[in-house]
Amino acid sequence: MITVKSLEIHVSYHCNLSCKGCSHMTPLEKEKFIDESDVYDTLKILSKYLHCEVIRLIGGEPTLNRNLASIAKNIKEINIADKIAIATNGIFIDKIQEDVLKNVDIFEISNYHYSEHLTNKIINWAKNVKEKYNIKTYIYMYEYFRESISYLKNEDTDLIKKIYDTCIVSHDWQCFNVFEGYFFKCPQAMAISRNIENNYMDTNGIKIEDDSNLEDRLYEYINDDKPLKACSYCLGTVGNFIELTQISRDKYKDLASDEIKELVDYEFLEKNLEKSTGDMFTVEKVIEI
Ligand code: SF4
Ligand code: SF4
Repeated sequence: MITVKSLEIHVSYHCNLSCKGCSHMTPLEKEKFIDESDVYDTLKILSKYLHCEVIRLIGGEPTLNRNLASIAKNIKEINIADKIAIATNGIFIDKIQEDVLKNVDIFEISNYHYSEHLTNKIINWAKNVKEKYNIKTYIYMYEYFRESISYLKNEDTDLIKKIYDTCIVSHDWQCFNVFEGYFFKCPQAMAISRNIENNYMDTNGIKIEDDSNLEDRLYEYINDDKPLKACSYCLGTVGNFIELTQISRDKYKDLASDEIKELVDYEFLEKNLEKSTGDMFTVEKVIEI
């Protein structure tokens, strides 16, 4: 049995925000929700070979999905994870139904706005759900994003390898994704396969099929020291800082069309190459409730 830190499920493809630099390429997504029975079948197969500390319901924005309570409950019953978390931008936090709260252990709230009103709303909500449902909340106060993806393919194999080697998302945080029957190392590999590489799911991910080789295939894929094809379009965790800002959805593509080599924070890349783990330094502080 393979044990990993986390698995992420995109319960909503779309989002109520459209952030410049969104590493899930969500601003390109039309309104769509997961196919629930498909994801349960996939997780049931996967649970025979892999266990995770936390399964995270993400998006897009997960709270846009009205079936969140039954999704959380059904996923919990599959028993693939010790805990279940929801990662949200927090805007609709006070609209979350009791049925959802009864089936979730952790909320991870990315506060991109840093507005006092939203922050206070989230803190008060978190105190309340801690008391009533024993839910733990982490509020990440973002100061910046980093450049994440470019439509222009990086042809510099040395730079691609360095970006991959320093990528905290896949190596350290283990933000593994299950998406439409595939297992991915990171949400970026899924998003790039979907939006740039024209559905190269098989190249960048592992098809989850119940065969005796699945555990070996997953183990090799997770531990492979060769970058994915998707890494040629990705900045990993070493892109230049960008300000937190909202953009029109049709602008997202234009903004993601600079060459990767122009978007790398080289000083940070070199620092991260010197040590085994890095950080992104985009979160100013974390409030734990
Ligand atoms: S809140 Fe912003 S960064 Fe998060 S999924 Fe939505 S658009 Fe992307
Ligand atoms: S595509 Fe490659 S560099 Fe980008 S997050 Fe995934 S593993 Fe890291």
